[in-house]
Amino acid sequence: MKCTSCGVELAENATSCPTCGAVVVVSATPTAPIAEKQTNVMAIVGFIISLVSLFWNGYFICSILAIIFSAVGLNKVKTANSGKGLAIAGLVIGIVGIVLSFVAASLLLRMFR
Ligand SMILES: [Zn+2]
Repeated sequence: MKCTSCGVELAENATSCPTCGAVVVVSATPTAPIAEKQTNVMAIVGFIISLVSLFWNGYFICSILAIIFSAVGLNKVKTANSGKGLAIAGLVIGIVGIVLSFVAASLLLRMFR
């Protein structure tokens, strides 16, 4: 926070400037404009596909798609300002789906050996 009158650096809770004595006006609007929230479609799609992969995951297609869409969605979190949780959840579920599929496949192979 800087004094609007003389430009000297002020304490966060200062009510007046110690250098020039000007009364500090606390502006109601923040200096940085808050980005408008947009629907992060990619994050939502990635999360939905990751949920589908829990029930059907032929050739890891759903897990791979979930990871791709979630990764794109995670990239869009900065611009869309939403969907971070969904994107991370979709990414994690997608990766877990692939790991579980490999574990299941190796267990099946051991059984038949
Ligand atoms: Zn001042």
